[in-house]
Amino acid sequence: MENLFIPVGGGNEIGASCYLYIVSGKRILVDSGIRFSNREPYPDFDFLKALAPELDAVVITHAHVDHCGSVHLLSSLYPDTPIYTTHETAQLLALMVEDAIKVRHITDRNSNEEWKEYRLLDEALSRVERREFYDRITLGDVEIVLYPAGHVLGASSVAIYYGDGSMVFHSGDISLSFQRTVGSAELPPEKASLLTLESTYYYSDRRFKRGEDERELLETVRKTVERGGKVLIPAFALGRAQEILLLLSEGMRNGAIPPITVYVDGLARDVSTIYENLLNRNLFNYYVQPAPSYQGLSFEEACRENLREADCILSTSGMLVEGTPSYIYSKLLAKDSRSSIIFSGYMAEESFGYRLLSSRELLSAFRCQIEKHHLSAHSDRRELEEILDTLTPEKTVFVHGYPPPEKQKNHAFNREVVRF
Ligand SMILES: [Zn+2]
Ligand SMILES: [Zn+2]
Repeated sequence: MENLFIPVGGGNEIGASCYLYIVSGKRILVDSGIRFSNREPYPDFDFLKALAPELDAVVITHAHVDHCGSVHLLSSLYPDTPIYTTHETAQLLALMVEDAIKVRHITDRNSNEEWKEYRLLDEALSRVERREFYDRITLGDVEIVLYPAGHVLGASSVAIYYGDGSMVFHSGDISLSFQRTVGSAELPPEKASLLTLESTYYYSDRRFKRGEDERELLETVRKTVERGGKVLIPAFALGRAQEILLLLSEGMRNGAIPPITVYVDGLARDVSTIYENLLNRNLFNYYVQPAPSYQGLSFEEACRENLREADCILSTSGMLVEGTPSYIYSKLLAKDSRSSIIFSGYMAEESFGYRLLSSRELLSAFRCQIEKHHLSAHSDRRELEEILDTLTPEKTVFVHGYPPPEKQKNHAFNREVVRF
C-alpha cells in the first residue's frame, strides 16, 4: 500500500502547520495552526477535506499557535475524530487558542463570529485525549507514540509505526539543547523510513551560542538600570518568556545584574502561571512578579503605572504586534535614551518589530537603545544534522521553513504529495 505525506500548510513557510499522513490506510493529521498574518490565517481546509473526507486521528505537537491556533475549526470539520496531545499541551493550548481568537477579533470584540469560535473551541477541547510521552496510541495496525521534543513544555515529536516495524518520524518544532524549563528532545531507537524535519534554522549558517547571548542580554539589563533607564523585553508568551524570567532571576542570584523589579505582563503572565503549576516550581518571586491589574485605568495608563513601578518589563507580544502590551510599552519608552528594548527571537515580516528593526526611518524615531539577542528554542543546523545522523532515514523531507532556491529539492512545499 502506498503511503503519503502532504503538507496542507506549514510546508514552505513558518505558520499554519497542518500535515496529513496516510499510512497503511490510516489518515493522521499532525497540527492545525494559524499564520501570523490576518490575510489568510488558516491552512487550506477545503484541500484537506478533499484529500481526507474522514480522519482517524489528529495529533497536536505543541501549543504554539502556528501549530494549534485553528484546532477548533479543524475539529468542527471532523467532529468524530479524537485529538491526541500531551497533558501539558492540552492545558496550554486552551489558553493560547483562546487568546489567538481574541486577537483575531480585536476590531469586532464580542461579535457573533468571535463567540462562535469560543464555542467551537469548547467542543474541540472535549475531544482532546491526553497522553503521556511514550504511550502507544493504537489505530488498527498503526501505532502512534509521542516523544519529548524539547522546545517548550509539553512539546512532542510524533512517531508513526506501521507495517513490519517501519516508522515515520515527524519532528515538530524540536530542540536537542537543554533549556531551563524543558529538557532535550529524545529520539526513538528505530531507523526512520520517512523523517519530516522542521527547518526553522536549517538553511542558516548561524550556530547558536545561547550562553553568550544570555550574558549579553543580562549585560544590557545591567547597564540600562545603572544609567536609570527601564528595560522592555518583548517575548513570546509560551516558552521564551519563562526562560527569560528564570534567566533574570538567576542573573540576580549570581550577581550578573543587581536586584531589580521585573513585571511579567500580557499573555506571558498567564502562561507563566500555568508553567508554575505544571512544573511544580516557582517562576515568580519577590523580584519577578506578575504585573498587577488596575481597576479603572485604561490599558495605556496601566502600562505607564507599571513602568513607574518596575525596572524591567517582560511582555507579549515578542514581535511587538500593534495593540499588544509590549507595543504600548515600546511607544512609552521610545523617547527615553536611557531605556532599552531587547528583542529575543523570531520576527514575522508583517510584525511591527520586524519593520522597526529593518527600517532606518522607524528606528530613528526610537531614541532608546534597541538590541536583538537570539535565545532560540529550536535546533540549529548542527543539531538538525545530528537528528539526521541518529535516525538514518531512508527519506527526509524538510518543512516549517523557507528554503533558498538552491535547496528546495528536499523541502516539501504546501500541497506537494510525498510518497514513501
Ligand atoms: Zn513552536
Ligand atoms: Zn512552529
